[in-house]
Amino acid sequence: MTFHSFLIKYGEIGIKGKNRYLFEDALVRQIRYALKNVEGEFLVHKCHGRVYVDCEGAYDYEETVESLKKVFGIVGICPVVRKSVKEIGELKKDVISYMGEMYPEGNLTFKVEARRANKRYPMNSMEINCELGEAVLDAYPRMKVDVHLPDVRLNVEIREEVYIYSEIIPGPGGMPVGTNGSAMLLLSGGIDSPVAGYMIAKRGVELEAVYFHAPPYTSERAKEKVVDLARLVSVYAGPIKLHVVNFTDIQLAIYEKCPHDELTIIMRRYMMRIAEYFARKDGCLGLITGESIGQVASQTMQSLAATNAVCTLPVYRPLIGFDKREIVEISEKIDTYETSIQPYEDCCTIFVAKHPVTKPNVERIEKSEQNLTEVIDSLMKMAIETAEIIRI
Ligand code: ATP
Ligand code: MG
Repeated sequence: MTFHSFLIKYGEIGIKGKNRYLFEDALVRQIRYALKNVEGEFLVHKCHGRVYVDCEGAYDYEETVESLKKVFGIVGICPVVRKSVKEIGELKKDVISYMGEMYPEGNLTFKVEARRANKRYPMNSMEINCELGEAVLDAYPRMKVDVHLPDVRLNVEIREEVYIYSEIIPGPGGMPVGTNGSAMLLLSGGIDSPVAGYMIAKRGVELEAVYFHAPPYTSERAKEKVVDLARLVSVYAGPIKLHVVNFTDIQLAIYEKCPHDELTIIMRRYMMRIAEYFARKDGCLGLITGESIGQVASQTMQSLAATNAVCTLPVYRPLIGFDKREIVEISEKIDTYETSIQPYEDCCTIFVAKHPVTKPNVERIEKSEQNLTEVIDSLMKMAIETAEIIRI
Protein backbone atom coordinates (compact mmCIF):
# COMPACT_ATOMS: atom_id res chain seq x y z
CA MET A 1 0.00 0.00 0.00
CA THR A 2 1.26 3.46 -0.80
CA PHE A 3 0.37 6.13 1.70
CA HIS A 4 0.42 9.72 0.58
CA SER A 5 0.06 11.49 3.93
CA PHE A 6 0.05 11.05 7.67
CA LEU A 7 -2.65 12.54 9.84
CA ILE A 8 -1.10 13.43 13.18
CA LYS A 9 -3.27 12.99 16.25
CA TYR A 10 -2.38 14.88 19.39
CA GLY A 11 -3.80 15.15 22.87
CA GLU A 12 -6.05 18.13 23.17
CA ILE A 13 -6.36 18.56 26.91
CA GLY A 14 -5.43 22.04 28.05
CA ILE A 15 -4.63 23.40 24.62
CA LYS A 16 -7.55 25.67 23.96
CA GLY A 17 -7.43 29.18 22.54
CA LYS A 18 -4.05 30.74 22.05
CA ASN A 19 -2.27 27.74 23.55
CA ARG A 20 -3.58 25.61 20.76
CA TYR A 21 -1.69 27.62 18.15
CA LEU A 22 1.50 27.50 20.17
CA PHE A 23 1.11 23.78 20.63
CA GLU A 24 0.39 23.12 16.95
CA ASP A 25 3.13 25.41 15.70
CA ALA A 26 5.66 23.73 17.98
CA LEU A 27 4.44 20.33 16.84
CA VAL A 28 4.83 21.28 13.18
CA ARG A 29 8.33 22.60 13.89
CA GLN A 30 9.38 19.44 15.71
CA ILE A 31 7.96 17.18 13.00
CA ARG A 32 9.94 19.09 10.38
CA TYR A 33 13.06 18.72 12.49
CA ALA A 34 12.46 14.99 12.94
CA LEU A 35 12.00 14.43 9.20
CA LYS A 36 14.95 16.56 8.17
CA ASN A 37 17.21 13.60 7.48
CA VAL A 38 14.59 11.15 6.30
CA GLU A 39 14.66 10.23 2.64
CA GLY A 40 11.80 11.91 0.80
CA GLU A 41 10.15 15.28 0.57
CA PHE A 42 7.58 16.23 3.18
CA LEU A 43 5.12 19.03 3.51
CA VAL A 44 4.12 19.48 7.15
CA HIS A 45 1.12 21.74 7.62
CA LYS A 46 -1.88 22.63 9.71
CA CYS A 47 -5.27 22.41 8.08
CA HIS A 48 -8.73 22.70 9.66
CA GLY A 49 -7.37 22.13 13.17
CA ARG A 50 -5.37 19.11 12.10
CA VAL A 51 -1.69 18.53 11.45
CA TYR A 52 -0.72 16.62 8.32
CA VAL A 53 2.47 15.36 6.83
CA ASP A 54 2.09 15.14 3.05
CA CYS A 55 4.68 12.98 1.34
CA GLU A 56 5.68 14.34 -2.02
CA GLY A 57 6.78 11.50 -4.27
CA ALA A 58 8.82 8.52 -3.13
CA TYR A 59 9.86 8.27 0.51
CA ASP A 60 10.96 5.72 3.07
CA TYR A 61 7.79 4.69 4.94
CA GLU A 62 9.46 2.80 7.81
CA GLU A 63 11.95 5.53 8.50
CA THR A 64 9.26 8.20 8.36
CA VAL A 65 7.08 6.39 10.88
CA GLU A 66 10.06 5.67 13.14
CA SER A 67 10.97 9.36 13.13
CA LEU A 68 7.41 10.49 13.82
CA LYS A 69 7.23 8.06 16.75
CA LYS A 70 9.93 10.17 18.43
CA VAL A 71 8.12 13.50 18.25
CA PHE A 72 6.69 14.44 21.63
CA GLY A 73 3.11 15.63 21.48
CA ILE A 74 2.07 13.03 18.91
CA VAL A 75 -0.50 10.60 20.28
CA GLY A 76 -1.23 8.76 17.05
CA ILE A 77 0.05 8.55 13.49
CA CYS A 78 -2.50 7.64 10.81
CA PRO A 79 -1.15 6.65 7.38
CA VAL A 80 -3.54 8.15 4.82
CA VAL A 81 -4.35 7.19 1.25
CA ARG A 82 -5.33 10.28 -0.75
CA LYS A 83 -7.62 10.08 -3.75
CA SER A 84 -9.19 12.74 -5.91
CA VAL A 85 -12.81 13.61 -5.15
CA LYS A 86 -15.14 11.50 -7.25
CA GLU A 87 -18.84 10.70 -7.40
CA ILE A 88 -19.95 7.99 -5.00
CA GLY A 89 -19.73 5.08 -7.45
CA GLU A 90 -16.04 5.72 -8.06
CA LEU A 91 -15.40 6.49 -4.40
CA LYS A 92 -16.74 3.06 -3.50
CA LYS A 93 -14.11 1.47 -5.72
CA ASP A 94 -11.35 3.38 -3.99
CA VAL A 95 -12.61 2.36 -0.56
CA ILE A 96 -13.03 -1.29 -1.55
CA SER A 97 -9.50 -1.50 -2.88
CA TYR A 98 -8.22 0.21 0.28
CA MET A 99 -9.93 -2.31 2.56
CA GLY A 100 -8.81 -5.24 0.42
CA GLU A 101 -5.22 -4.17 0.51
CA MET A 102 -5.14 -3.20 4.18
CA TYR A 103 -6.96 -6.26 5.50
CA PRO A 104 -6.49 -9.14 3.08
CA GLU A 105 -7.65 -11.65 5.74
CA GLY A 106 -10.96 -9.85 5.77
CA ASN A 107 -12.15 -11.42 9.01
CA LEU A 108 -13.08 -8.28 10.98
CA THR A 109 -15.77 -5.87 12.07
CA PHE A 110 -15.73 -2.30 10.82
CA LYS A 111 -17.55 0.98 10.86
CA VAL A 112 -17.38 3.73 8.24
CA GLU A 113 -16.81 7.19 9.67
CA ALA A 114 -17.27 9.66 6.86
CA ARG A 115 -16.66 13.37 7.28
CA ARG A 116 -17.62 15.94 4.71
CA ALA A 117 -15.43 19.01 5.09
CA ASN A 118 -16.10 19.87 1.47
CA LYS A 119 -19.78 20.87 1.64
CA ARG A 120 -20.16 20.90 -2.13
CA TYR A 121 -20.10 17.12 -2.11
CA PRO A 122 -23.68 16.12 -2.96
CA MET A 123 -24.23 13.63 -0.09
CA ASN A 124 -24.10 14.09 3.65
CA SER A 125 -21.91 11.98 5.91
CA MET A 126 -24.71 9.66 7.00
CA GLU A 127 -25.50 8.82 3.41
CA ILE A 128 -21.84 8.31 2.59
CA ASN A 129 -21.48 5.98 5.60
CA CYS A 130 -24.36 3.82 4.41
CA GLU A 131 -23.27 3.65 0.79
CA LEU A 132 -19.64 2.85 1.55
CA GLY A 133 -20.50 0.40 4.34
CA GLU A 134 -22.75 -1.56 2.01
CA ALA A 135 -20.17 -1.54 -0.76
CA VAL A 136 -17.52 -3.01 1.57
CA LEU A 137 -19.95 -5.66 2.86
CA ASP A 138 -20.78 -6.70 -0.69
CA ALA A 139 -17.15 -6.87 -1.72
CA TYR A 140 -15.89 -8.80 1.32
CA PRO A 141 -18.44 -11.20 2.78
CA ARG A 142 -16.20 -11.97 5.81
CA MET A 143 -16.29 -8.36 6.99
CA LYS A 144 -19.12 -7.35 9.33
CA VAL A 145 -20.39 -4.01 10.53
CA ASP A 146 -20.20 -3.17 14.23
CA VAL A 147 -21.09 0.43 15.01
CA HIS A 148 -20.26 0.20 18.73
CA LEU A 149 -16.88 -1.54 19.05
CA PRO A 150 -15.53 -2.16 15.55
CA ASP A 151 -12.08 -3.67 14.97
CA VAL A 152 -11.52 -1.10 12.27
CA ARG A 153 -12.77 2.46 12.01
CA LEU A 154 -12.66 3.32 8.34
CA ASN A 155 -12.30 7.08 8.11
CA VAL A 156 -13.23 8.71 4.83
CA GLU A 157 -12.81 12.46 4.82
CA ILE A 158 -13.93 14.47 1.86
CA ARG A 159 -11.84 17.60 1.53
CA GLU A 160 -10.11 19.03 -1.52
CA GLU A 161 -9.13 15.41 -1.84
CA VAL A 162 -10.51 12.28 -0.22
CA TYR A 163 -8.51 11.05 2.77
CA ILE A 164 -8.89 7.39 3.62
CA TYR A 165 -7.35 5.95 6.78
CA SER A 166 -8.01 3.40 9.48
CA GLU A 167 -4.74 2.54 11.17
CA ILE A 168 -3.46 4.47 14.20
CA ILE A 169 0.19 3.92 15.10
CA PRO A 170 0.81 5.04 18.71
CA GLY A 171 3.06 8.09 19.18
CA PRO A 172 5.13 8.89 22.26
CA GLY A 173 2.64 11.30 23.86
CA GLY A 174 3.93 14.21 25.93
CA MET A 175 4.09 17.82 24.72
CA PRO A 176 5.93 19.27 21.72
CA VAL A 177 9.37 20.53 22.68
CA GLY A 178 9.29 24.30 22.83
CA THR A 179 5.93 24.62 24.57
CA ASN A 180 7.32 24.70 28.10
CA GLY A 181 10.42 26.87 28.18
CA SER A 182 13.93 25.51 28.47
CA ALA A 183 16.11 23.90 31.14
CA MET A 184 19.79 23.13 31.63
CA LEU A 185 20.66 19.42 31.80
CA LEU A 186 23.79 18.38 33.68
CA LEU A 187 24.85 15.73 31.20
CA SER A 188 27.54 13.26 32.21
CA GLY A 189 28.58 10.18 30.30
CA GLY A 190 26.52 7.91 32.53
CA ILE A 191 23.24 6.08 32.09
CA ASP A 192 21.06 8.40 34.14
CA SER A 193 21.40 11.94 32.91
CA PRO A 194 20.47 11.27 29.25
CA VAL A 195 17.30 9.57 30.51
CA ALA A 196 16.58 12.54 32.80
CA GLY A 197 16.91 14.91 29.84
CA TYR A 198 14.62 12.75 27.73
CA MET A 199 11.94 12.75 30.43
CA ILE A 200 11.88 16.52 30.87
CA ALA A 201 11.95 17.11 27.11
CA LYS A 202 8.92 14.83 26.87
CA ARG A 203 6.96 17.46 28.77
CA GLY A 204 7.72 20.06 26.11
CA VAL A 205 10.87 21.54 27.64
CA GLU A 206 13.70 22.53 25.34
CA LEU A 207 17.13 21.37 26.53
CA GLU A 208 20.50 22.94 26.91
CA ALA A 209 23.27 20.87 28.47
CA VAL A 210 26.49 21.25 30.38
CA TYR A 211 29.27 18.70 30.67
CA PHE A 212 32.23 19.05 33.06
CA HIS A 213 35.41 17.41 31.95
CA ALA A 214 38.84 17.30 33.52
CA PRO A 215 41.58 16.97 30.94
CA PRO A 216 44.07 15.34 31.01
CA TYR A 217 42.45 13.17 33.70
CA THR A 218 39.49 12.61 31.43
CA SER A 219 40.14 11.96 27.76
CA GLU A 220 38.91 13.54 24.56
CA ARG A 221 37.09 10.26 23.96
CA ALA A 222 35.10 10.71 27.18
CA LYS A 223 33.97 14.09 25.88
CA GLU A 224 33.08 12.59 22.49
CA LYS A 225 30.91 10.08 24.32
CA VAL A 226 28.95 12.92 25.92
CA VAL A 227 28.57 14.62 22.54
CA ASP A 228 27.26 11.30 21.17
CA LEU A 229 24.79 11.07 24.04
CA ALA A 230 23.61 14.63 23.47
CA ARG A 231 23.06 13.74 19.83
CA LEU A 232 20.99 10.69 20.79
CA VAL A 233 18.87 12.75 23.19
CA SER A 234 18.41 15.43 20.53
CA VAL A 235 16.65 12.90 18.30
CA TYR A 236 13.76 13.42 20.73
CA ALA A 237 14.54 16.78 22.25
CA GLY A 238 15.52 18.79 19.18
CA PRO A 239 18.67 20.92 18.93
CA ILE A 240 20.75 21.11 22.12
CA LYS A 241 23.31 23.76 23.00
CA LEU A 242 26.02 21.85 24.86
CA HIS A 243 28.50 23.68 27.11
CA VAL A 244 31.71 21.80 27.72
CA VAL A 245 33.38 23.19 30.84
CA ASN A 246 37.00 22.53 31.75
CA PHE A 247 36.71 21.61 35.41
CA THR A 248 40.27 20.45 36.07
CA ASP A 249 41.60 23.44 37.98
CA ILE A 250 38.54 23.67 40.19
CA GLN A 251 38.80 19.97 40.96
CA LEU A 252 42.50 20.22 41.76
CA ALA A 253 41.87 23.17 44.06
CA ILE A 254 39.15 21.27 45.89
CA TYR A 255 41.42 18.23 46.12
CA GLU A 256 44.20 20.31 47.55
CA LYS A 257 42.25 22.40 50.04
CA CYS A 258 39.18 20.48 51.19
CA PRO A 259 38.65 17.32 53.27
CA HIS A 260 38.75 14.34 50.94
CA ASP A 261 35.59 12.74 52.23
CA GLU A 262 33.70 15.85 51.10
CA LEU A 263 35.24 16.06 47.61
CA THR A 264 32.32 14.73 45.64
CA ILE A 265 29.75 16.92 47.35
CA ILE A 266 31.84 20.08 47.02
CA MET A 267 32.60 19.29 43.42
CA ARG A 268 28.91 18.70 42.74
CA ARG A 269 28.06 22.05 44.35
CA TYR A 270 30.45 23.87 42.01
CA MET A 271 28.97 22.03 39.04
CA MET A 272 25.54 23.24 40.08
CA ARG A 273 26.75 26.82 40.48
CA ILE A 274 28.32 26.90 37.03
CA ALA A 275 25.34 25.15 35.44
CA GLU A 276 23.08 27.72 37.05
CA TYR A 277 25.20 30.56 35.72
CA PHE A 278 24.79 29.30 32.13
CA ALA A 279 21.12 28.55 32.73
CA ARG A 280 20.36 32.09 33.87
CA LYS A 281 22.40 33.59 31.08
CA ASP A 282 20.28 31.79 28.47
CA GLY A 283 16.94 32.16 30.23
CA CYS A 284 16.56 28.51 31.25
CA LEU A 285 13.91 28.01 33.92
CA GLY A 286 15.52 25.15 35.80
CA LEU A 287 18.31 22.61 36.08
CA ILE A 288 17.98 18.88 35.39
CA THR A 289 20.06 16.08 36.89
CA GLY A 290 19.95 12.30 36.72
CA GLU A 291 20.00 11.88 40.49
CA SER A 292 17.98 9.21 42.26
CA ILE A 293 17.66 8.88 46.03
CA GLY A 294 20.27 6.64 47.58
CA GLN A 295 21.92 5.49 44.36
CA VAL A 296 25.41 6.49 45.56
CA ALA A 297 26.87 8.39 48.53
CA SER A 298 26.40 11.72 46.75
CA GLN A 299 22.71 11.02 46.31
CA THR A 300 21.53 10.35 49.85
CA MET A 301 18.83 12.72 51.09
CA GLN A 302 21.49 14.67 53.03
CA SER A 303 23.79 14.86 50.01
CA LEU A 304 21.00 15.99 47.73
CA ALA A 305 20.10 18.68 50.24
CA ALA A 306 23.73 19.85 50.37
CA THR A 307 23.94 19.98 46.58
CA ASN A 308 20.59 21.66 46.27
CA ALA A 309 21.51 24.37 48.78
CA VAL A 310 23.63 26.30 46.26
CA CYS A 311 20.86 26.53 43.64
CA THR A 312 18.24 29.20 43.37
CA LEU A 313 16.66 27.83 40.21
CA PRO A 314 14.43 24.78 40.62
CA VAL A 315 16.33 21.52 40.15
CA TYR A 316 14.34 18.86 38.31
CA ARG A 317 15.27 15.27 39.11
CA PRO A 318 12.87 13.17 37.07
CA LEU A 319 14.56 9.88 38.12
CA ILE A 320 14.38 10.60 41.82
CA GLY A 321 12.18 7.61 42.67
CA PHE A 322 13.47 5.18 40.05
CA ASP A 323 15.56 2.08 40.62
CA LYS A 324 18.57 1.59 38.38
CA ARG A 325 16.79 -1.24 36.59
CA GLU A 326 13.93 1.05 35.63
CA ILE A 327 16.33 3.72 34.39
CA VAL A 328 18.24 1.16 32.31
CA GLU A 329 14.96 0.06 30.75
CA ILE A 330 14.23 3.59 29.54
CA SER A 331 17.79 4.12 28.35
CA GLU A 332 17.48 0.96 26.25
CA LYS A 333 14.18 2.13 24.86
CA ILE A 334 15.58 5.53 23.83
CA ASP A 335 18.81 3.99 22.55
CA THR A 336 21.32 5.71 24.84
CA TYR A 337 22.27 2.63 26.88
CA GLU A 338 24.94 1.19 24.59
CA THR A 339 26.72 4.54 24.42
CA SER A 340 26.38 5.20 28.16
CA ILE A 341 28.09 1.95 29.13
CA GLN A 342 31.19 2.59 27.03
CA PRO A 343 34.00 2.52 29.57
CA TYR A 344 35.45 6.00 29.56
CA GLU A 345 36.58 7.67 32.75
CA ASP A 346 34.36 10.24 34.42
CA CYS A 347 35.67 13.30 36.23
CA CYS A 348 33.78 12.22 39.35
CA THR A 349 35.55 8.88 39.57
CA ILE A 350 39.07 10.27 39.36
CA PHE A 351 39.11 12.42 42.45
CA VAL A 352 36.82 10.21 44.42
CA ALA A 353 37.45 9.54 48.12
CA LYS A 354 37.65 6.01 49.50
CA HIS A 355 35.05 6.81 52.13
CA PRO A 356 32.90 9.73 51.02
CA VAL A 357 30.54 11.29 53.54
CA THR A 358 27.04 9.95 53.17
CA LYS A 359 25.45 12.42 55.58
CA PRO A 360 27.12 15.73 54.79
CA ASN A 361 26.30 18.67 56.95
CA VAL A 362 25.73 21.86 54.97
CA GLU A 363 27.44 24.16 57.51
CA ARG A 364 30.50 21.95 57.58
CA ILE A 365 30.62 21.83 53.79
CA GLU A 366 30.31 25.62 53.62
CA LYS A 367 33.15 25.89 56.08
CA SER A 368 35.34 23.61 53.97
CA GLU A 369 34.53 25.68 50.90
CA GLN A 370 35.92 28.73 52.69
CA ASN A 371 39.36 27.17 52.17
CA LEU A 372 38.84 27.99 48.50
CA THR A 373 38.00 31.67 48.97
CA GLU A 374 41.23 33.01 47.56
CA VAL A 375 41.19 31.05 44.33
CA ILE A 376 37.67 30.00 43.53
CA ASP A 377 36.26 33.19 42.00
CA SER A 378 38.96 33.44 39.38
CA LEU A 379 38.85 29.69 38.71
CA MET A 380 35.08 29.83 38.21
CA LYS A 381 35.44 32.85 35.96
CA MET A 382 38.07 31.08 33.91
CA ALA A 383 35.97 27.88 33.63
CA ILE A 384 32.99 29.91 32.45
CA GLU A 385 34.93 32.01 29.99
CA THR A 386 36.73 29.10 28.39
CA ALA A 387 33.66 26.87 28.06
CA GLU A 388 33.33 25.40 24.61
CA ILE A 389 29.89 25.60 23.01
CA ILE A 390 28.86 22.70 20.78
CA ARG A 391 25.58 22.94 18.93
CA ILE A 392 23.98 19.56 18.55
P1 ATP B 1 24.90 9.49 35.40
O1 ATP B 1 24.57 8.16 34.89
O2 ATP B 1 23.95 10.51 34.92
O3 ATP B 1 26.34 9.86 35.24
P2 ATP B 1 25.52 8.68 38.01
O4 ATP B 1 24.76 7.58 38.57
O5 ATP B 1 26.89 8.43 37.50
O6 ATP B 1 24.63 9.40 36.93
P3 ATP B 1 26.61 10.81 39.58
O7 ATP B 1 27.91 10.63 38.92
O8 ATP B 1 26.49 10.81 41.06
O9 ATP B 1 25.53 9.78 39.12
O10 ATP B 1 25.99 12.16 39.06
C1 ATP B 1 24.71 12.59 39.44
C2 ATP B 1 24.26 13.62 38.44
O11 ATP B 1 25.14 14.75 38.45
C3 ATP B 1 24.27 13.11 37.02
O12 ATP B 1 23.09 12.42 36.69
C4 ATP B 1 24.44 14.38 36.23
O13 ATP B 1 23.19 15.05 36.07
C5 ATP B 1 25.35 15.22 37.13
N1 ATP B 1 26.77 15.03 36.75
C6 ATP B 1 27.66 14.20 37.30
N2 ATP B 1 28.87 14.29 36.71
C7 ATP B 1 28.73 15.21 35.73
C8 ATP B 1 29.60 15.77 34.73
N3 ATP B 1 30.87 15.38 34.62
N4 ATP B 1 29.12 16.71 33.90
C9 ATP B 1 27.83 17.11 33.98
N5 ATP B 1 26.96 16.62 34.89
C10 ATP B 1 27.39 15.69 35.76
MG1 MG C 1 28.11 9.86 36.53
